Amino acid sequence: MHACLAEPRPTTRMSSRSERALLLWTALSSALTAAGLNLATSVLDHPRAFDSWPALGLPLAAGYALLAAISLIVFGVTAALGRWRGRDAGWLAAATYVALVLAAALAPLIEVGMREASAERAGVVLVCATGFVVSAALAAHAFARAAGAAGSDVLALLPLASASILGTLWLIEYRSEGPGARALVLLAGAAALAASVWVARRCATPRVLAALSALVLGYAGLDALHDPRPALAPLAAAWDRPPVVLITVDTLRADRVLGPDGPRRVPTPAIDGLLADSVVFSEARAAAPWTKPSLATLLTGLAPLVHGTTNRRARLPREIDTLAERLRAAGYRTGGLGLNAHLEPAFGFDQGFDAYAFPARPDYGIALGARVLERLVPARFPELFPSTAAIAGAAVDWIDDHAQEPFFLWVHVLDPHWPYEPPAEWLAHPELEPRRWGEPAMVTSVQAGNVKPGQAERERVAELYAGEIRYVDAELARVLAALRERGLYERALIVFASDHGEEFWEHGRYEHGHTLYDEVLRVPLAFKLSGAEVRTRVDAPVSTAALMPTVLDLLGLPFDEQQLSSRSLAPWWRAPDEARVEPLFAAGTYYFGEKRGVVFDGKKLVLELDTGRSELYDLTRDPRELSSIAAAAPEAVRRGLQLLCAWQDACAELRGRLGLAVAEGETGSEALRAMRALGYAGTE
Ligand SMILES: [Zn+2]
Repeated sequence: MHACLAEPRPTTRMSSRSERALLLWTALSSALTAAGLNLATSVLDHPRAFDSWPALGLPLAAGYALLAAISLIVFGVTAALGRWRGRDAGWLAAATYVALVLAAALAPLIEVGMREASAERAGVVLVCATGFVVSAALAAHAFARAAGAAGSDVLALLPLASASILGTLWLIEYRSEGPGARALVLLAGAAALAASVWVARRCATPRVLAALSALVLGYAGLDALHDPRPALAPLAAAWDRPPVVLITVDTLRADRVLGPDGPRRVPTPAIDGLLADSVVFSEARAAAPWTKPSLATLLTGLAPLVHGTTNRRARLPREIDTLAERLRAAGYRTGGLGLNAHLEPAFGFDQGFDAYAFPARPDYGIALGARVLERLVPARFPELFPSTAAIAGAAVDWIDDHAQEPFFLWVHVLDPHWPYEPPAEWLAHPELEPRRWGEPAMVTSVQAGNVKPGQAERERVAELYAGEIRYVDAELARVLAALRERGLYERALIVFASDHGEEFWEHGRYEHGHTLYDEVLRVPLAFKLSGAEVRTRVDAPVSTAALMPTVLDLLGLPFDEQQLSSRSLAPWWRAPDEARVEPLFAAGTYYFGEKRGVVFDGKKLVLELDTGRSELYDLTRDPRELSSIAAAAPEAVRRGLQLLCAWQDACAELRGRLGLAVAEGETGSEALRAMRALGYAGTE
């Protein structure tokens, strides 16, 4: 039985029937393993996409069919090569098998592991995958034996070798820091591989394989049951606090809802009604130009350079106290619901929420079979993600369920984020076809400048965006009506904001995330106070970083300004003489190089860190930021750079006070170091 591994022998000696059986079963079992592995990973990454047995079984079957065809071709070629070179087909099959499984496993592991937060999940994936590999090989082993194939113990080696290699890769990626630890893991991996060979040759019986399968699957099951979310403490004693509702609308430009009046202003009766009852900050700016860092700031009162949640992988540190955590500790029932992939629990935005419903990303991940079926039978694979209407409905239900207790509800609607696809009833010109704009791939090409829409197309895009805003307004009207009908509206503190705006080629580009111009930074920010009849408009520039301290201040809850990046905005209407205009900062760009911005003395300075290039705009004379006066006003540039340097230092100090590690890349970017060398860093 061990002959095939122990001593090479000419392929011609192996009966061609038994060789064919071995190759056939190896090909089919490796395809099954790869398909199962691929699907298992997708399920872990996108559980909502596979919520029924047909949703699991069909992609598995489709993936298997495709991979089986590929495997048979690959193994056929391998066998032919083996015959040609006079090598043992069993070994070639083994090498091909390991390569196939690794190819199927590596992509998922990389995909899942893209986020640091997913180390635990990646572990579960790995263990499930290993279990699957062992089980599939066990079946193949039995089949090959039944078919009388020689060298079937090769099949026992395959899963063990795959498991050793995958385990080594996972440990290197997630659990070992520094070259010393990695070298140790590599050594251990090599030892495990050698042990695999030994086990396969000496004691690879179905019984041993079954025991191994049970072991890894049992561990996977236990691990999957483990919920990494820390348990919430019991609510503090309930008392009479006003309900708090935070409504954030993704990608909502301030000018579309706040004016000035003109063709671009979108009629939004529900939002207008709310703003009419509120303290409205007409010059509010987001702290970052895209969702994750901006909302992290909004929910924590900390600047992007402090919370560090500024890239695709980053997660909001558990050490930070969020608004939900503060309100929960004060006796509030907390609920967060909405849609945006950057706000998934894996990124730490669920901290402090009793209930948190932000579904996973709008795709099937790397599930090969689901991707194939999505193309072939799109009707069976509809959009998985709740519409704005569904989110509004869920918000109304949540309010119904919690109307009798102090509650904090955060509702985040993804519209009017692209794709712009409003229901026809919300379009001024529904006859304009197509009624959709902004597939991800298309947005990428437009951003890169490879696709340049003409004026007519830009008008159409702006109209679709406006249609999305009308749609959002109509849905938010339902949420506000629910509060009114239950007698909660008057008592509630309702905060309305957005995470960033949207560029429509004002500066030559489209979308958001890469610049700090006002079409992206300026957002609506309003507080409908509880019970009080304060309705006013404040035109001073303020940051959405002030949202959390302002809410705590309004509720009479204590907060330490030394532990936050912003003060409360309440003085702006309580004691306007005491309110101070302070410089506003923005950071955390997503594409095309990091930028920092500061608004001060009616001007805005934007510094590009990679190049050290700065732009300066006089916001009073040139509110559309069309011509930089950096060359003509070196003193103002110097002042802005000093402010940026001082801010960076203040953020680093605050991180220290909060017990957060210094963020990677934040300490000594070249441009800021150069600025310091030039003496820009002053005492502020
Ligand atoms: Zn956003």
